[in-house]
Amino acid sequence: MLVSTAIRKAALLGRPILRKVLRRLKPDEVRSSEVQRLVREMAVTMEEYDGVGIAGNQVGEDLAVFIMGLPKGVKRHPDGIELTVVFNPVITPVGVETEEDWEGCLSVPDLRGPVTRLKKLELSGLGLDGKAFKKVYEGFPARVVQHETDHLNGIVYLDRMDGLKSLSYMSEMGRRA
Ligand code: ZN
Repeated sequence: MLVSTAIRKAALLGRPILRKVLRRLKPDEVRSSEVQRLVREMAVTMEEYDGVGIAGNQVGEDLAVFIMGLPKGVKRHPDGIELTVVFNPVITPVGVETEEDWEGCLSVPDLRGPVTRLKKLELSGLGLDGKAFKKVYEGFPARVVQHETDHLNGIVYLDRMDGLKSLSYMSEMGRRA
């Protein structure tokens, strides 16, 4: 029987789970049908909200998992980002270079703010098959990895901003040109 995948409602800032350090998973749990279904629901939810990444607590789950992905050809990052699922992510910096760019968040709708992030990093954790995952990311994908891993530790991008004076509504940003 074909079972449709449910789109979840994104948790907005103020929901306590967004400020929680999320529970890490064992490989067997990653492979369970419940968690595999959750991942599919996170993927369709991310697509529905037009996001580049989504974390477990953003769909109300206390599980240390995030998804990221972006189709090729999108202006923000034309190379795209391969759809990636990572459980229990750990970031190791590669070099010390940082860069500032604008970020937004499904849990903080309509706003954008500049955040300084590591330019290059190695991400390790468990993949969708419960096996060890390790990959180096640079530039925009590295930024997404840092933003999503922060979520799993109860941190949102506003906390990473150098003050809130640059925080802007997207609709107003377009008028600067
Ligand atoms: Zn976010």
